[in-house]
Amino acid sequence: MTTNVKLQAWVKEMADMCQPDQIYWCDGSQEEYDRLMQGMVDAGMAEPLDPEKRPGCFSFNSDPSDVARVENRTYIASKTKEAAGPTNNWINPDELKETMKGLYKGCMKGRTMYVIPFSMGPIGSPISKIGVELTDSAYVVCNMRIMTRVGAKVLETLGGNGEFVPCLHSVGAPKEAGQKDGKWPCAPMEKKYISHFPEERTIWSFGSGYGGNALLGKKCFALRIASVIARDEGWLAEHMLILKLTSPKGVVKYICGAFPSACGKTNLAMLVPTIPGWKVETIGDDIAWMKYGKDGRLYAINPEAGFFGVAPGTSLDSNPNAMHSIEKNTIFTNVGVTDDKDIWWEGMGVDAPDHLIDWKNNDWTPASEAPAAHPNARFTAPASQCPVIAPEWEDPAGVPISAILIGGRRPSTIPLVHESFDWKHGVFMGSIMGSEITAAAISDKIGQVRRDPFAMLPFMGYNVCDYLQHWLDVGAASTEDKLPKIFYVNWFRKDKDGKWLWPGYGENSRVLKWICERVSGEGEAVKTPIGYMPTTDAIDTTGLDVSADDMAELLKVNNEEWLKEVESIKAHYENYGRMPQELKNQLEALEARLKA
Ligand code: PGA
Ligand code: MN
Repeated sequence: MTTNVKLQAWVKEMADMCQPDQIYWCDGSQEEYDRLMQGMVDAGMAEPLDPEKRPGCFSFNSDPSDVARVENRTYIASKTKEAAGPTNNWINPDELKETMKGLYKGCMKGRTMYVIPFSMGPIGSPISKIGVELTDSAYVVCNMRIMTRVGAKVLETLGGNGEFVPCLHSVGAPKEAGQKDGKWPCAPMEKKYISHFPEERTIWSFGSGYGGNALLGKKCFALRIASVIARDEGWLAEHMLILKLTSPKGVVKYICGAFPSACGKTNLAMLVPTIPGWKVETIGDDIAWMKYGKDGRLYAINPEAGFFGVAPGTSLDSNPNAMHSIEKNTIFTNVGVTDDKDIWWEGMGVDAPDHLIDWKNNDWTPASEAPAAHPNARFTAPASQCPVIAPEWEDPAGVPISAILIGGRRPSTIPLVHESFDWKHGVFMGSIMGSEITAAAISDKIGQVRRDPFAMLPFMGYNVCDYLQHWLDVGAASTEDKLPKIFYVNWFRKDKDGKWLWPGYGENSRVLKWICERVSGEGEAVKTPIGYMPTTDAIDTTGLDVSADDMAELLKVNNEEWLKEVESIKAHYENYGRMPQELKNQLEALEARLKA
């Protein structure tokens, strides 16, 4: 329990509305986790995996209607539509609250309301923030325990009058007396609401039990609400991995990377370099909170404590460190379960077994047409289990950032790597970023390219134009020599026949090496209309299996394609409305350079 009067009052008010059978305050202990898991096993919702092969691991299968973030049911309910901006769904907050109160009324009947006090960032660190999630899902409690720091210590830190972000969550499936649960209770799509009230710094989520819709510390708090707090307080809450790169000479650089969901942030954060002597260690794989240190440099912390990674495609080849992170104490959602109670998914790098139970709970054989795992199947694993987690990953002071990478899936136009001329130009690059849509959110447009500024399109808590202005303002608070350099990378180039031009994964270390050299004041570059680019021999290609022609293609600025890109960016800027003048100037300057 807590001495925090505001928290007590809020829990009571929400319980009066949701009418759970009981209220339970989570202490975050292992005993509690085991007990809740056992409860879900007994209820037939969780399947324990082989204790020899996967100790402490469980598999869950969601309802087929509840498999990813639901962007078209996600709302930024600021007081005005203008504050939410052109990229967010908006409903008047009073109206939305009325609708949702109607849904929440009695929604926890037959269930327990769990109170989860959690810290984003190390408990007690000056940059950490506290949230409290109320949920009627034990699955959410167990996932939150891995993804955040949960427990009594958080309540202690909160004290009698500390601030917290209230996060209300319900799966939206009240139970009549004696009614048995299905494997995955949730509400139909039209009743799902993932709502944010930025002025109140409050989150209300209803109807979904999956990932970012339900684990409210992640996208809802650490990105959407935190981005608003960051704007007000002069820092950055970003959809970025954080990695530590050490050169053979022992030079250490910390790098952040903004990539849209399912574009390989987790893989890059845990990369195993193919070039000798280089080392990558992980600080975070999804979210970075960046604040200025006294020295005028930006320092980043990872506010999370676990990885919620995409399972399909993860293998000992593509990401051995992720594979080792999930050997134990991991929750799997929507993967295939083999007859000997292990997991399997497409792209796992081991042959499919003759038989398994697929994510829809059906028998599956290699002859089956449907995939064994859902394309957005996930693992939830403690970050501490990552073999290359950096020793300083929980340093409350954060790590000083030397470079920011941005990128996405772009089959054409965007070269392998180019560097911004300065911070403002880097913000411009961030503003024009685009990517092919992936399965990380429910969409009928998978594969189409959409603009996704700083990979924050689904995660900005306010107007995109103000967000980009905020990036310019943050830069103006320091000087170029102290600010991270910004690099636009593209691992996803294809040739005319649709074949990948770049092998990606561990080979991306070759690009990281050049970036490290650039931020150290070395590294050969040529000035092009779009930014600085490596000279043809500046990227270390020793032992790399890419033809000289393909390499040239990867590092080419195609003026014709870029001029088309400029036209498309103009339309994109128009769409957004009142873009910062500085960015419009940048666009004009780019066009002029391309035509010169
Ligand atoms: P992601 O996270 O979209 O960043 O992969 C998914 C989720 O939080 O549901
Ligand atoms: Mn993400």
